[in-house]
Amino acid sequence: MDGVKASVLRKVDELFDEETHFLREMVRRPSLRGETNLVQQYIAKSLRGHGLSVVEEGLDLGKMSTMRGYAPVDWSYEGLVNVIGTARAAAPGGRSLILNGHVDVVPIDPIEHWSVDPWGGDVVGNRLYGRGSCDMKGGIAAAVYALRAVQSCGLGLKGEVAIETVIDEECSGNGTLSAFANGHTADAAIIPEPFPYMVTASTGVIWCRIRIRGRGAHAQSASSAVNPIEKAYVVIKALRELETELNRPEHRHSSFAGVEHPCNVNIGMLHSGTWPSSVPETCMLHVRIGYQPGIAPVEMQERIRQAVLGGAQRDEWLRNTPPHVEFAGFLAEGWLVDTESEIFTLVERNHEQLAGAKPPRQPVTGTADNRYFGFAGIPHVGYGPYGELLHAPDEWVDLESVRLVTRVLATTIIDWVGVIS
Ligand SMILES: [Zn+2]
Repeated sequence: MDGVKASVLRKVDELFDEETHFLREMVRRPSLRGETNLVQQYIAKSLRGHGLSVVEEGLDLGKMSTMRGYAPVDWSYEGLVNVIGTARAAAPGGRSLILNGHVDVVPIDPIEHWSVDPWGGDVVGNRLYGRGSCDMKGGIAAAVYALRAVQSCGLGLKGEVAIETVIDEECSGNGTLSAFANGHTADAAIIPEPFPYMVTASTGVIWCRIRIRGRGAHAQSASSAVNPIEKAYVVIKALRELETELNRPEHRHSSFAGVEHPCNVNIGMLHSGTWPSSVPETCMLHVRIGYQPGIAPVEMQERIRQAVLGGAQRDEWLRNTPPHVEFAGFLAEGWLVDTESEIFTLVERNHEQLAGAKPPRQPVTGTADNRYFGFAGIPHVGYGPYGELLHAPDEWVDLESVRLVTRVLATTIIDWVGVIS
């Protein structure tokens, strides 16, 4: 360990209480979809306070809609922004780096299932609790404080480092796509999502909605009506068959060879009915489907449509009243990480030196915004803090792991970008 790194690591430890405060303050600003501005304003102010050059940019659908990876959505981005804070190079000759993280979080409901305040940022031992603490405000705190530690040691950067805090990662990825549409790029990127390992690959993720028509009636004649909730069983069975097909070992992408069940189909929402004594007219399923890398999103959309309509053929009512399948939100293809790239090797090696053991390498069965860096030919890494109960009540992040990731990112900035003292 050279002297420069040793002093930066000491600085990480010195700043740790402030970093924990910064993380807690982010968690205390609820940032559900469409409500991300409070946290973005807080981050923008903090980055400016650290001397970064900060822009707050809206999402321009016109620019993005023809780009690879664009996901059509039916919610609005009006008034919402990404924040991009850039530390300029003090000397030439280095390579640039983006540290990208999403500020949007998933809903907390039902709040009664939480034993802590989901927006409280309570610290108990090494755990900081709250929605988004792990996914992924902990990673954002690590990125911000890694750069801060390097800069507050008086080291000049030889290349630009940008912190991108983006929106809409949990439902489309259009936030990061927008940053590309606005010209933000770099020689490498790290996304400190809650992956306490080196990500090697990711499944694709598609969201779809399936509208099932029934024939409503007074419940007194329910036996001669058609209840669309019960018809949803037929559709769910068809989706489960598709899931089995997607997971067959012979269809498995080599990067998921050791994973038992990479492709998960989740019935995330079911909406139907208005009255116990009325047979509903419609039932809407909101479904998330994971699929192997190497399959194009349009091909997967077609397979989903065929699976649902094929299943409907087995039911007399659905054969004549086919479910309607539509797509909005995630249209993410699976992605692979170049594990030979220099940035990957640096992160892996720095983790090994600081933690005393190599981080495992493993594929993920969700997704992250890494794919956009892949589309742009930019080497990228998925690696971040450890925590549990993401997307569930009592989410927490391990603060010691946030500290370790901060140390790894700080040393990787030094190695990749280069510094002058
Ligand atoms: Zn995430």
